[in-house]
Amino acid sequence: IRITSTLNVRAQFPAIENWHYLDSAATAQKPQAVIDAITNAYARDYATVHRGVYQRSSEMTGRYEAAREAAAALIGGKPAQTVFTRGATEAINLVAYTLPREGRRRVLVSTLEHHSNIVPWQLAGFQVDAVPLTDDGQIDLDAAEDMLTNEHLIVAFAHVSNALGSILDAKRAAEIAHAKGAYLLLDGCQAVARLPVDVAALGCDFYAYSGHKLYGPTGIGVLWGCPDLMKTMPPWQGGGAMIDRVTFESTTYADPPQRFEAGTPHIVGAVGLHAAIDWITNIGLDAVHAHEAALVAECRAALAGIDGVTLYGPEASAGIVSFNVDGVHAHDVATILDDAGVAVRAGHHCAQPLMDSLGIAATARASFAAHSDSSDIAALVRGIEQVKRIFT
Ligand code: PMP
Repeated sequence: IRITSTLNVRAQFPAIENWHYLDSAATAQKPQAVIDAITNAYARDYATVHRGVYQRSSEMTGRYEAAREAAAALIGGKPAQTVFTRGATEAINLVAYTLPREGRRRVLVSTLEHHSNIVPWQLAGFQVDAVPLTDDGQIDLDAAEDMLTNEHLIVAFAHVSNALGSILDAKRAAEIAHAKGAYLLLDGCQAVARLPVDVAALGCDFYAYSGHKLYGPTGIGVLWGCPDLMKTMPPWQGGGAMIDRVTFESTTYADPPQRFEAGTPHIVGAVGLHAAIDWITNIGLDAVHAHEAALVAECRAALAGIDGVTLYGPEASAGIVSFNVDGVHAHDVATILDDAGVAVRAGHHCAQPLMDSLGIAATARASFAAHSDSSDIAALVRGIEQVKRIFT
């Protein structure tokens, strides 16, 4: 399979000139529009938000809140239910620590979760139960249905797996969770840059994502929560901006989302995220998804044709292809690929329980983005041939 059309956006990414960057699942490179938005926000428009009475501050406040609107709209949510966090990790921690327990102390996750959707629950004192995967690396929702009990407060699944690219049937996951009175949190880190997302259509209760995987800056992410639930959640961190009235005797708190945004926020991060959301929605997430699906098909077919390469995950993965070369550690594969100008991730991908379940220590992972094209796959294949020459 050869993809015939690309999205033709490669030239907009100054950092990947002459480089085959196949590590967008770790963090995405930034298009010029995002770089310009960040530069201008510091160089020209910078001021604090929510406090200043002078004009530039009120303009920046408007831009910060416009970013919130965009961050909500990207996933079909409302700004009043959309909290800016440092990233998906902080978003999941926020839920783990503040969601009222209602006497339920168990959480159902899956075997393929990123550590950031496992460890926060453990730290917050939940018993963590893990749903197994199907043979092709999808979360086994039949098993989830059987495993879920009235003691589970919440089901927390990756919408798209960072290690395998598996796409969750999120709607069915929501139905299964709700049938037992549990909530559903979706870790949307890998999904938002790869698929159109609509929280209302999916029926989830929480949705978390990070800006930096969505062509935006690091240090900013989003927690969307269903409004009735967000109102029941107490503040998590105290400080400026999250209060209603403070005295030494007692303090009252702002409504969500401000209740969960203590301190001066990542102002320019929000501006950069807004530019990234505008950029990707202008291309269209349907188009990005189709583009990456074609690249995955081309890549899997090419790697399957190389003797001694093992592929992991489902055929129809979202933009991510995990593999190993027989007898060669993934780190060695990645090091030789690096010499060939190809950047892939190698390791456990912050999913050690998944690696344990596959009976391996690591994989090499190629992950695509809107700027990827067939030249990246050709370079990957040449690099793997080189790996095989060196190791045999
Ligand atoms: N979940 C998934 C599926 C991820 O891929 C990542 C990042 N690798 C995270 C959560 C954590 O995101 P962050 O480090 O940006 O908080």
